Amino acid sequence: MRVLTVLGNRPQSVKAAAVSRVLRTRHEEVLVHTGQHFDDELSTIFERELGVPKPEIQLGLGGGGNTEQTARQLAALGPLVAEQRPDVVLVYGDTNSTLTGGLAAVQAGIPVAHVEAGMRSWDWSMPEEQNRVLTDALSDLLLVPSRTAQANLEREHPRGRIVWVGDVMVDVADLFRPIAAQNTAVLERYGVEPGGFVVCTAHRAANVDDPARLRALVDLLVAVPYPVVLPLHPRTKARLTAAGWLDELARHVTLAPPLGYLDFTALLVHAHAVLTDSGGVQKEAFLARARCVTMRDTTEWVETVESGWNVLVDLDAEQAIAALDRPLPAEHPQPYGDGRAAERVVDALDTLDA
Ligand code: UDP
Repeated sequence: MRVLTVLGNRPQSVKAAAVSRVLRTRHEEVLVHTGQHFDDELSTIFERELGVPKPEIQLGLGGGGNTEQTARQLAALGPLVAEQRPDVVLVYGDTNSTLTGGLAAVQAGIPVAHVEAGMRSWDWSMPEEQNRVLTDALSDLLLVPSRTAQANLEREHPRGRIVWVGDVMVDVADLFRPIAAQNTAVLERYGVEPGGFVVCTAHRAANVDDPARLRALVDLLVAVPYPVVLPLHPRTKARLTAAGWLDELARHVTLAPPLGYLDFTALLVHAHAVLTDSGGVQKEAFLARARCVTMRDTTEWVETVESGWNVLVDLDAEQAIAALDRPLPAEHPQPYGDGRAAERVVDALDTLDA
C-alpha cells in the first residue's frame, strides 16, 4: 500500500515519529511537509532524536494568514496528490495542513485517514477547531485517541468509520521520556534546579495575536513566583517584538529558542509545574504526572482537567499562581491508551487495502 502523509508543524512531526516507524515496516510512505511551520535546524534534531523520516517532498509554503495559507497549500497539494496516486492520504491533528491534505485527497477520490480525530474544544473561533471538524467530515477512517473523542464523533454520525487507536503521542512519550529524564544538561544550561522552576509554552493565536491578550500573558508570566523557562515559539516572538515587550519579558523570564523534543521533555519532567496553551504539552504534562496550568478557557484534553492534573485559568494571573502550588491528585488514570496506538493506526490502514 502506498501512503501519502501530509505534515506541516512540530506536533505533527512528533506524531509521525510514532506512526512512520511502524508504517514503513509494512507499507510505502511518501512524507510531504507543507512548510507551514518549518525550522530546518529543529527538523534535523527531530530526525536525529525521534527518527522522524526526512520528508520526501518539501513544499516550503510557510507564512501568510490562515485563508491564504490554506489556499496555497491546497493549490500545491491538489496536483501533487493526483500525480502521486496514493492508496490513502494520512493526516494528523488540527492544522491547515491537516485540512488541506484531507481536502486534496477527497477531491482526487482518494481515501483519507485522520489521526487524532474527534477532538473538540467546542470553541468554533479556534482555527484548530475548524480544521478538526472539517477534516473529520471528509475522512474515511477516523482514528480516535480517547473514548471522549469517540463519543464526540458518534454523536456527529460522520460518513467515515470510527476506530479507537489510543494516542500516538503516548507511544512517543513512553519511548523517549525515560531517555529525556536523564538529560539534566538542559537544566544546567538554563540555570534551574529540578523541581524549582516552571516551564512555559505559549503560541495560541487567541493569546498572542490580540495585543490586550498578549499584554495579559506578559503580566501573568512576570508575576510567576518561580524561575520560568520559556522556549519561544516563532509566532510569539514575532508578536512580542512587534509590541516592544520582548526585552521586558526577558528581564523576568529565561527565554530559549524552540527546543528539541528531548530537551523540552527534560524540562517538562523536572519542572515544578508546566504553564502552557499548547494541546500537546497539556497531554504530555499529564502523561509525565506533572502539574499543568493551562492558559486557555477550554481544552480538547478534558480528561486531564477532570482528573485534576490540569487546571484551566485562561490568562488570569491570580488563578494561575494559585494553581501552580496546588497539591497533585492521588489517582492517575490512563485515558489515552497503552502506547501502542501506532500499531493500531497501521492495522486500521490495512483494512482499507482489503
Ligand atoms: N515541543 C518541543 N520543543 C519545544 C516545545 C514543544 O519539541 O520547545 C514539543 C512538545 O513536546 C509537543 C509538541 O512540541 O510534543 C507540541 O507542539 P506545539 O505546542 O507547537 O503544538 P500544539 O500541541 O499546541 O498543537
